[in-house]
Amino acid sequence: MAATQANPQAPFEIKPSTFSGQTQFLNYIGGQWVPAKSGKTFQSLNPADPSDVIGVFPAAGPDDVNAAVAAAKTAYETWRLTPAPVRGEILFRAGQILIERKEELAREMTREMGKVLAEARGDVQEVIDMTFYAAGEGRRLFGQTVPSELQNKFAMSVRAPLGVVGLITPWNFPMAIPSWKLMPALICGNTCVLKPASDTPLLSHRLVEILEEAGIPKGVVNLVYGSGREVGEPLMAHKDVTLISFTGSTDVGRRVNEACAPTFKRVSLEMGGKNAILIMDDANLDLAVDGVLWGAFGTSGQRCTAASRVIVHKAVHAQVRDKLVKRIGELKLGYGLNPDVKVGPVINEASLKKILEYIEIGKAEGATLLAGGQRDTQAGPGWFVQPTLFDNVKSTMRVAQEEIFGPVTALIPVNDFKEAIEVANNIQFGLSTAIYTKNVNQAFTALRDLESGLCYVNAPTIGAEVHLPFGGMKDTGNGHRDAGSTSLDVFSEWKSLYVDYSDKLQRAQIDH
Ligand code: NAP
Repeated sequence: MAATQANPQAPFEIKPSTFSGQTQFLNYIGGQWVPAKSGKTFQSLNPADPSDVIGVFPAAGPDDVNAAVAAAKTAYETWRLTPAPVRGEILFRAGQILIERKEELAREMTREMGKVLAEARGDVQEVIDMTFYAAGEGRRLFGQTVPSELQNKFAMSVRAPLGVVGLITPWNFPMAIPSWKLMPALICGNTCVLKPASDTPLLSHRLVEILEEAGIPKGVVNLVYGSGREVGEPLMAHKDVTLISFTGSTDVGRRVNEACAPTFKRVSLEMGGKNAILIMDDANLDLAVDGVLWGAFGTSGQRCTAASRVIVHKAVHAQVRDKLVKRIGELKLGYGLNPDVKVGPVINEASLKKILEYIEIGKAEGATLLAGGQRDTQAGPGWFVQPTLFDNVKSTMRVAQEEIFGPVTALIPVNDFKEAIEVANNIQFGLSTAIYTKNVNQAFTALRDLESGLCYVNAPTIGAEVHLPFGGMKDTGNGHRDAGSTSLDVFSEWKSLYVDYSDKLQRAQIDH
C-alpha cells in the first residue's frame, strides 16, 4: 500500500476521492473481500467538506452477519488451539506494519473523521501501543497456581477464550477503539466480527487489511459494514456470538444490554461521559487553562473523556474565565491537515444540529455565553462549531448534566473544595475527572472521593495510556474495563483446574 508523499507540514488541499487510490471498499468475511449480499452501499464523507467522498462501503445486512459469524465459528476451532505466543507473533507483525504506515493512516483519519493531524497521529499511536501490548500478553496470559487444601492435589486456573465475539465501535477513535477490542480478543484466542461506526469505515478497513498482511488466518477477523439496525442488531441476536463488546452512547448501550439479555451473552459496555476539571484556589492557573483547552476542545470535544464541565473555585473564577476567553479566541478552526488548525469539524450534520441545540438550551437556562456559540462557516464548508464557553452554569442545568459531544464547556463556580467534589459527582456518568491543586491533601482526597473510573491530578481529563484499565463508573459502563490487563477479563473466562495424583478419593472440605 503506497504511503502518501504529502508533506505533513504543508497545507492540505482537499482532493477528489482518489486519495488512497481506492474508492470501493468491501466487507471482509472468511478471508475474502466481498460486497454486501444485497449489493447496497453507503458513502463515507469528509466532515470538513462533505462534497469530498472518501469511499463507497457495503451496506450489509443480516445475511452478511450470518456469513461472518459462520466464518468466525469455523476459524475458532483452529485459532483457539493456536498457542498464544504464536498469535502474539502475528500481532507483533501488525504493529510493525502500523508503525510503517502511521503517517498515511493519520492523514486518512483526519480526512475521514476530522480530528486534527497531531491527534490523528496519536490515535494511530494508540493502536500501535495496544497492538504491542496485547502481543506481549501472548507470553503472559497469567493464571494462578495455588496450594490445594489436600495432599497430592494440584490446583490452578487458566484463561479460556469465549468463542465468536461481536465488536461494535464508535467513530470518535476510528482505529484506536477497534484495536482496543480486536487485539485483546485475538490474543485470548477468540475470533471476531467487527461492526465499525458508519461515519468512519475506512480506518477499520485499514486495520483489518493490516492484520491480513500480518498473517491473520482466514475467518479469525471479519469486518461487516452497515447500520446499527441492519448489522448491529443481528449480531447481538446471533446465537453463536458469545460476547458483545460495545463502545458508544449510553442510549445505544442500554439497547445492547437489553438485546443481549435473552441469549445470556456477555456484554461489555463503554458509554457516555460528562467529565469535569476542578480548579482549586491554589492551582497553577495557566497550567489549568492549558488543560481545559486541551480537555474541552481537543477532538472538537468529541471524546468520551472531554472536559465539558469546569468546576472552579470562586476565588479564581474571574481569572480563569478571562484567561479562557482570551485563549479560546486564539484557537484556529479548520481542516485538520492544515498545521496551524487546532480545532477540526464535528462528525456530521446531525451532530452539528444537536450541539447548536444544546447551545440554545444553555442560553435559555440562563447560562452566560462568553465565547463561540455558533456554526463557523468561515472555517470551511463542513460541520464546524465555534469553541464555546458558558459561564455561571449551575450544576443542575442540562448543559451541565447531559453529554453534548461537541466543543462546548461550562464554567461552574463553587465555594470550596467540598462543594467542588459534590458537583463533580452530581452526575449520572463517571468516566474521567481532573483536579488542579498544589495541596496534596486535597489531591488525595479527590482521588479517593471522585466517582470516576479515571482521575487525574494537574493534568486534563484526556490522556489515558493503554496499559491501565479504561472505563467508567455509574452509567458510563457496566463494570468492565477496556485496555490494561482488565481487557483480558472481558475477552476470556476462567477455568479452575484440579489434578489429583493421590490415587485415592479425596474429598475437599471434608477430608482435611
Ligand atoms: P453510538 O451512536 O452509540 O454508536 C456506536 C456504535 O453502535 C456504532 O457502530 C453504531 O452504528 C452502533 N449502533 C447504533 N445503533 C445500534 C443498535 N441498535 N444496535 C447495535 N449497534 C448500534 O455512538 P457514537 O455516536 O458512534 O459515539 C459517540 C458516543 O460514544 C459518545 O456517547 C461517547 O461518549 C461514547 N464513547 C465512549 C467511550 C468510552 O470508552 N466510554 C469511548 C468513545 C466514545 P452506526 O454508526 O451505524 O449508527
